[in-house]
Formats: sequence, structure tokens, C-alpha cells
Amino acid sequence: MTLRAGLIGHPVGHSISPRFQQAAFDAVGLDVRYQPWDLQPGELEGFIDQLRQNDALGANVTIPYKEAALRHMDGLHETARFVGAINTIVNNDGHLQGYNTDVTGFQRSLTDAGFNPSGANAVLWGAGGAARAVAWALIWRGIESLTIINRTAVRGGRLRHDLASASAGAKLRSMGADDEAVPAALQHADLVVQCTSIGLKGGETEGQLPFDPNWLADATFVADLIANPVETPFVRAARGLGCRVLGGLPMLVYQGAAAFELWTEREAPVDVMLAAAHAAMSERES
Ligand code: NDP
Repeated sequence: MTLRAGLIGHPVGHSISPRFQQAAFDAVGLDVRYQPWDLQPGELEGFIDQLRQNDALGANVTIPYKEAALRHMDGLHETARFVGAINTIVNNDGHLQGYNTDVTGFQRSLTDAGFNPSGANAVLWGAGGAARAVAWALIWRGIESLTIINRTAVRGGRLRHDLASASAGAKLRSMGADDEAVPAALQHADLVVQCTSIGLKGGETEGQLPFDPNWLADATFVADLIANPVETPFVRAARGLGCRVLGGLPMLVYQGAAAFELWTEREAPVDVMLAAAHAAMSERES
């Protein structure tokens, strides 16, 4: 029997997950078909329900369903509970378990890039779902302090409040993107993570920068979660200032590799997945 897995979202046509997940299943010789599952909001609950069938391994979940899908799970891993959103569903004999592998995906991409967050002063630019996953990833890796900066200050304040319940001693603060303390916060950061959609290809802010990159210190490690384009204008600008930089593609692949391992209980062929992801992106960018 051919098993199935796929990506639930809307839209999903732009996603490269089907490319690198299918490459992974093929590389390890598993008879699995990974498909894009583009759903209208009214279809979500019924679609998730049929993932309990025995030919379904589970699913990845992307925008805009990461929070809505969580409500239809039979159980949640603690990362998903803390973040308040899922990006992976695992079908265990009809019991659907929700996970958030963005957390480990980000941690692994940071480690791979040679940055150890333990004891670091970090700034998050953004306070949406991805910022939540990154915030927990950094807190669980022992950061010293976290400053959340967001266009909508109240949303940043909400994230700070939620993190405070289990921040294990990390100093937390939040401010609006127009706060006069923003340049100093950026100047003193060891790590800045750009977690907004500013600069996303095809979006309203394509080609734009989240803030003036001259506010960055050259010793700061700069990460941008955006995977498309592979190098955003922000990453390019930070690199030009002498900062060490990390784009969003490794995180995208590592969150997918973690999902693959949950579905199959096998080690993911990460090199195959990274190569397939880079090939898919170069086709799109050429
Ligand atoms: P959300 O919609 O939950 O949050 C969007 C964030 O971007 C908010 O902080 C929002 O601010 C901010 N924002 C959006 N537009 C603007 C703008 N014009 N000016 C200022 N701020 C803006 O999205 P997610 O958190 O889920 O995703 C954010 C990005 O992260 C996406 O680009 C996504 O592709 C990327 N991502 C990458 C992953 C990877 O594996 N590499 C994984 C997950 C996400 P406000 O609150 O003020 O609206």
C-alpha cells in the first residue's frame, strides 16, 4: 500500500516542501506519496479527521492553519503546547499527535551555522507564529535576554507575557518597532532574528528591509527566517556590514526533517533534502 503524507495550507502551490520530502522518501526507499493539500477553511476539520486512516502517515501544516489545526489534535507534544501552534501531525494508529518542529528546525539551523545561543542577548524582530517558535527555541537553549520588537507593540507584549510563564530566568522585554530604544537594543544584541514576512518574494514587502541595517553591530549574528528568496535583501545588507548571517532555508529543511523522523522513526536523509531544496529554489530563482 502506498502511504500518504502532505502539506496542509492555503495557498501551498509555492511551497518546496513536496520537493524535499518526496526526495527523502524516495532516497530511503519508502513507498510514500507527499502531496500539497490546499484547503479552504471549511475543509480543515474533515480533512484532518481522515488523516486517522491507516494509509496516512500525517501532515505538515503551514499558514494559515498552524493554530486552527492544533484544536483538532488528540494529543500535543509539549513544544506545540508552549508555542500554541502545530506544523506537524503524526497519525499513530488513528490517534493524531501535534508537534511544532519549527522549534528544533531553528535550533538545528543555528547550531549548524556555528552560533551557540547559551548566554546570548537576542532580539526578535516580529511577534507572529514563527517568532513564538523561535522565542521558545532560544529560551530552551539558555539565552540571557530576549527583546521582542514588533510593529504592533501589543502583540509583542502578549508574546512576552506568554514566555514569562516558563522563561527559566531569561530577561524579557518588548517594544514597538517605532520605540526610541530600538537602535540601542539592536546595537547590543549578540543575535538578531528577523521573524516577520518583510522581504518575502511575491509579497507586498518584497525587496524591503525590516529596519535600517546600519543599526546592527558587525559582531552580531543575524538570522532571517524567510526562505524565499534564499538570500533576502536584509541578509545581504547584514553580510555587507560584516555580520555572520543565516537565511531561512536550512530551518525549513530541518523542520521538515524532524517531521520525517516522527512519521517514519528513521533518520532523515538531510543531505538529500537540503540538495533537493536548493535545486527547487534555484529553478525558481532562474
Ligand atoms: P504571522 O502572520 O504569524 O506573523 C507575521 C509577522 O510579520 C508579525 O510580526 C507582523 O507584525 C509582521 N509583519 C507582516 N507584515 C509587516 C509589515 N509590512 N511591516 C511590519 N511588520 C510586518 O506569520 P509567521 O510568524 O507564521 O511567519 C513569518 C515569516 O516567517 C514568514 O515570512 C514565513 O515564511 C517565515 N517562516 C519561515 C520558516 C522557515 O522554516 N524558514 C518557518 C515559519 C515561518 P504585526 O504583528 O504588526 O502584524
